[in-house]
Amino acid sequence: MPSANENARLAALTNRARSAFQRAYGDAPTHVVAAPGRVNLIGEHTDYNDGFVLPAAIDRHALMAIGPRNDNQVRIVAVDLNARSSFSLDQIDHDQANRWSNYQRGVAWALQGEGLALRGMNMVLTSDVPVGSGLSSSAAVEVATAFAFQVLSEFELNGVTRALLCQKAENDFVGMNCGIMDQFIVSLGSRGHALLIDCRSLDYQAVPVPEGCSVVICDTKKRRGLVDSEYNLRRQECERGAEILGVRALRDVTLEQLVQRRGAMDALTYRRCHHVVSENERTQQAVSALRNNDVAKFGKLMDASHVSLRDDYQVSCLELDEMVAAAWAQPGTLGSRMTGAGFGGCTVSLVESAGTDAFVQDVARTYQSRTGLRPEVYVCQAEDGVGLVSLTN
Ligand code: ADP
Ligand code: MG
Repeated sequence: MPSANENARLAALTNRARSAFQRAYGDAPTHVVAAPGRVNLIGEHTDYNDGFVLPAAIDRHALMAIGPRNDNQVRIVAVDLNARSSFSLDQIDHDQANRWSNYQRGVAWALQGEGLALRGMNMVLTSDVPVGSGLSSSAAVEVATAFAFQVLSEFELNGVTRALLCQKAENDFVGMNCGIMDQFIVSLGSRGHALLIDCRSLDYQAVPVPEGCSVVICDTKKRRGLVDSEYNLRRQECERGAEILGVRALRDVTLEQLVQRRGAMDALTYRRCHHVVSENERTQQAVSALRNNDVAKFGKLMDASHVSLRDDYQVSCLELDEMVAAAWAQPGTLGSRMTGAGFGGCTVSLVESAGTDAFVQDVARTYQSRTGLRPEVYVCQAEDGVGLVSLTN
């Protein structure tokens, strides 16, 4: 976790959270927790197929200023929404009027379900992870909440278990059927590294993000519309594919085996399977490329990932394709692809450092002229996962 002193953005968020805490509760917070957003470099729609993903935590954070209470209440102020919600740890219900608070409620529910004794707390939340852009503002909130309970209730929780309980909160309390990737990287990210995660065994390895290039995220500003229903549909299509192939999950099939069984399934199921199986292979090749410092190869694999998501998995959209096309046309781009669930949200590009300023300007201009949408472009650092912000002043 960077200290607030070395990161102006984090310092501004910390100050906002601390002063809002003082105003709301008449006291200073005892701790400030920061949990990053994330970007997936490659390995898209593979997590729920027991496959491989390669995300990095980024230097955008959900921040929680917290302090203990002597009762069983949890009070939350959401600064960015100008809203409040509170609940009792004795009886955790959904809040229909403040649905945003179901993430914190769900995490408390999941932790308690594990037998952990939670202490009441006052909390203020503010975040600069954009909401609904595919950078996982929700996992940042969940993992920050779990960490906040850990700190104030003084129990041990390893990073993998924390990620699993946050996923459980989102799946079973919030009702969003997400995979493990987001909570995992937000919980366990490592500065300067991406994590190769095996979504079946939950083994992981930190892989250095190469020097001499930048990770650039371009937000299309196209908000995801179809995503929930299409996401669930893709999951079903993958399950059907695995069933036809007689395996537990698509992770268990090589591309060669899939090609041999082409005749056993309808064309649509084949295409869906083709994306997942080839994406798993690309992700493992991408890790080898990084270990060999072959950034050109890594970039080509990102490009191929986009084509596969666009044509076989059909989760791209005009805006994502325009952004990727603008990036591909830019000198200095090593690779570019859509990232996240799709149908809007962000692209991720690997760009030579020397070409990064020009990339930011030119890609934004080209995209805006083609779509009429004004994009947001972030040059990112790979960050640590959740942690405490040191409060030195
Ligand atoms: P994302 O792709 O950003 O994770 P989701 O729809 O999964 O999008 O999660 C967004 C939800 O997370 C918001 O609707 C809200 O409930 C919660 N959330 C994210 N950021 C904040 C915030 N700053 N304050 C309160 N709630 C937040
Ligand atoms: Mg989310």
